[in-house]
Amino acid sequence: MRRPIVAGNWKMHGTRAENARLIEELTSRFPDQSAAECLVCPPFVYLQEVGRMLRDTPIGLGAQDVCAEAQGAFTGEVSAAMLKDVGCGNVIVGHSERRWIYHESDQLVARKFAAVQAKSLAPILCVGEQLSEREQGRTEEVVARQLDAVLSLCGVGALESGVIAYEPVWAIGTGHTATPEQAQQVHAFIRERIAARDAKIALGTRILYGGSIKPGNAGELFSQPDVDGGLIGGASLKAEEFLAILAAAGSR
Ligand code: PEP
Repeated sequence: MRRPIVAGNWKMHGTRAENARLIEELTSRFPDQSAAECLVCPPFVYLQEVGRMLRDTPIGLGAQDVCAEAQGAFTGEVSAAMLKDVGCGNVIVGHSERRWIYHESDQLVARKFAAVQAKSLAPILCVGEQLSEREQGRTEEVVARQLDAVLSLCGVGALESGVIAYEPVWAIGTGHTATPEQAQQVHAFIRERIAARDAKIALGTRILYGGSIKPGNAGELFSQPDVDGGLIGGASLKAEEFLAILAAAGSR
């Protein structure tokens, strides 16, 4: 049985005061027993402070990105070892905003995935097609290419501790959620592709959906057999919405 995950990607939002308020609201209303795992991914500069606020709570800490290199002369970059040092357990790699705005290639994303695992952290690998690619019927080809880059570099065994997030680019921050059927179709495709290399690992791999999840659509998306939770952007900045989405994941 795969334990669902609900991860909040705060992107480049928040101030120290806003973060403190959000964490206070989340922790004070957090359910006594959540069937779903929960984590938040604040911007780098706030990781340590938010991590301190989350100590002794059931909410985990993740980062939004990482450098593919272990250390050295890479001005402006942050290593996996540093993320581990400040208490991160998870690291998002290959978010579409990194791929499309900052031109990160499949190969660079795969190296980031490897760098995260080398420090025994759990990567959350984002994959997903652009609207034009979906319209051309190329969704599976694109997702397969992004996934295969990681499988080729790291091997299928790397997915034993890794998580995948299917995030159609056209659904991120747009209010246009994929239908539960569209999400399920791609999630099943991803699981089958992993199963072609290792059926047992495929069964255990958690595949999250991301793209305009709200309390109103979360239940239906999470009820799909291959949707194991969500990566949440906008709604993760509102405690009430994020907790409602967490509850939907926990009751799937
Ligand atoms: C995301 O940034 O990963 C995301 C899914 O954003 P949103 O929920 O705002 O669409």
